[in-house]
Amino acid sequence: LDDRDGVIWLNGKLVPWRDAKVHVLTHSLHYGNAVFEGDRVYNGKVFKLSEHSARLIRSAKMLAYDLPYSVAELDAATKLVVAENKLESGYVRPLAWRGPEVIGVSAAGTKIHVMIAAFPWGKYFSQAAIRICTSRWKRPSPESSPAGSKAAGLYVICTLARDEAAAAGYQDALMHDYKGRLSEATGANLFLVFDGELHTPTTETILNGITRQTVMELARKRGITVVEREIYPEELARASEVFLTGTAVEVQPVGSIDEREYPVGPISTQLQADYAALVRA
Ligand code: PMP
Repeated sequence: LDDRDGVIWLNGKLVPWRDAKVHVLTHSLHYGNAVFEGDRVYNGKVFKLSEHSARLIRSAKMLAYDLPYSVAELDAATKLVVAENKLESGYVRPLAWRGPEVIGVSAAGTKIHVMIAAFPWGKYFSQAAIRICTSRWKRPSPESSPAGSKAAGLYVICTLARDEAAAAGYQDALMHDYKGRLSEATGANLFLVFDGELHTPTTETILNGITRQTVMELARKRGITVVEREIYPEELARASEVFLTGTAVEVQPVGSIDEREYPVGPISTQLQADYAALVRA
């Protein structure tokens, strides 16, 4: 991804794609305290842009630093970088991190850097319904990690889970949390249908996805009852449909979890269509 034409917004300036580099002593590279976002561009427009910009700022705050930019400034920078790269449809990756001023664990004295890149990215999964497996990796307790922060360090677990799942022939992994409850996939939230109602885990150990919130709203508009609650793995036997939501994955039906199969049912199909229409509206 580093060797291509285009521009990246880096600390307030547009720089040629190949020149957007960091030093090897960058604090966040050593200690995992970068925070990031993932936005999608449809018809040249970023969906829920301000929500993503605001979450980037909140993610950093949870890791005890302030970004030197406001939501409005991040929004403007994102629009600029999408326009300059002539991106009609694709993905935006904003990232904020602590610079190479200090090497110790303490981050005091580091400078905060921000970059925004935008590039084409098609469907996250090529399958109409994906096969996922239960991961041995657990989402940590909120007392051990700032779950609501989209912090780079938290993705160590996600990458391990995702690549182990792929090696075993699955497209993604479903993680339980530290209490054994269903939590989320490696880059997406989980929804299940029980008796025509839409159920999703509470937000204690997950990222409360912008897509998750959007899909709950769409479901309510369709008159579907939405329930946020603790959901346990034993309940998977009773679910009639399963799908994932996320900016990158959009609304993604799940065809199986481990050995158990699920049809792509009416609620998944409806919400997938509603989401596809909304993002292009
Ligand atoms: N959980 C995790 C771990 C994620 O990485 C993502 C993707 N950002 C999500 C959930 C979904 O969040 P969103 O809908 O805001 O993209």
